[in-house]
Amino acid sequence: MTEQEDKQRMVSGVSQNGDNVLDLTLRPKVLEDFVGQEKIKDSLNVFMEAASQRKEPIEHVLLYGPPGLGKTTLAHIIAKKLGANIRVTSGPAIEKAGDLAAILTNLEEGDILFIDEIHRLNKLIEEVLYPAMEDYALDIIIGKGPSARTLRLDLPKFTILGATTRYNLLSSPLRDRFGMTYRLNYYEPGDIAKIVNRSANILDIGIDNDSSEAISHRSRLTPRIANRLLKRVRDYAQVKGDGNIDKPTTDKALDMMEIDTVGLDSIDRRILEIVIDKFKGGPVGLNSIAAATGEEMGTIEEIYEPFLMQLGLIVRTPRGRVVTEEGYKHLNREVPEGHSKKLV
Ligand code: ADP
Repeated sequence: MTEQEDKQRMVSGVSQNGDNVLDLTLRPKVLEDFVGQEKIKDSLNVFMEAASQRKEPIEHVLLYGPPGLGKTTLAHIIAKKLGANIRVTSGPAIEKAGDLAAILTNLEEGDILFIDEIHRLNKLIEEVLYPAMEDYALDIIIGKGPSARTLRLDLPKFTILGATTRYNLLSSPLRDRFGMTYRLNYYEPGDIAKIVNRSANILDIGIDNDSSEAISHRSRLTPRIANRLLKRVRDYAQVKGDGNIDKPTTDKALDMMEIDTVGLDSIDRRILEIVIDKFKGGPVGLNSIAAATGEEMGTIEEIYEPFLMQLGLIVRTPRGRVVTEEGYKHLNREVPEGHSKKLV
């Protein structure tokens, strides 16, 4: 499965076509409405307050974590709180050093530049970014060959908010230029239920607590997925019921989408099944899983495995991936004798 195909999955945290309007309507505008991630909120509050007392732009901030957890939302909240203009771009959108130079020279003092998927900036562009981040300067090379010389342009003091799903792909010089780095984790189920209730409120959907809890358990602890499922359950309730969302309607709608009680879809379950059936539950290397499932190795590593590990259904051991006892039980399979020895 390619990244493009992952976008089609109901349980993908990556933004999909229908999500844009939903994201905008439901996106919290202030930190007080941003549910969960308490440590990050506390730290951001202090950090922003200190900068505004000093009347200085904040240091560059890096936000990282799986898609759909609130990185873009936080960037907009920070900008609003600081009363700063925010310019939005992304790693793949900046193709040439000149594109970045054009963006940077148009910034004003105190502006925020949000660069989504910052790990996808190419290396030449990263190098333009280093002096810009460190010294607020842009080095432009004029001419070619031996007569080429560098001209240094001063830039206004601005702040970069970088977002990435792949921290390990950022070069270390780039990482080092961020004053603050925040890692967003998957949410607690209780927080996701709160987000579902909040969204239902905004969208004027009647929902009971059992249903928001059921959605929260199946939404991979990811706000964007929770909002998407809520929308689908609402459609289902409207067509098959009286429009109100209750637990039986919710369960039926989610079952129809083949999302199970912990949020796994058919592909996640197939990965577990293959490791159990073809590789005796592991340990097995990523490449063998990829070959047996027909998925790409990178996709398994980036998209499926993190959530299966988060749920404790699979573990990484020095000899390869192993399905845990919980993994067996989740698929209603009997745990083979002595299996626990494989888990270390
Ligand atoms: P990312 O940039 O990490 O992919 P977004 O910031 O675009 O994620 O978040 C996706 C959507 O999920 C937002 O539009 C918002 O509606 C919702 N969301 C994310 N985090 C929260 C949160 N902490 N509280 C409430 N809603 C949230």
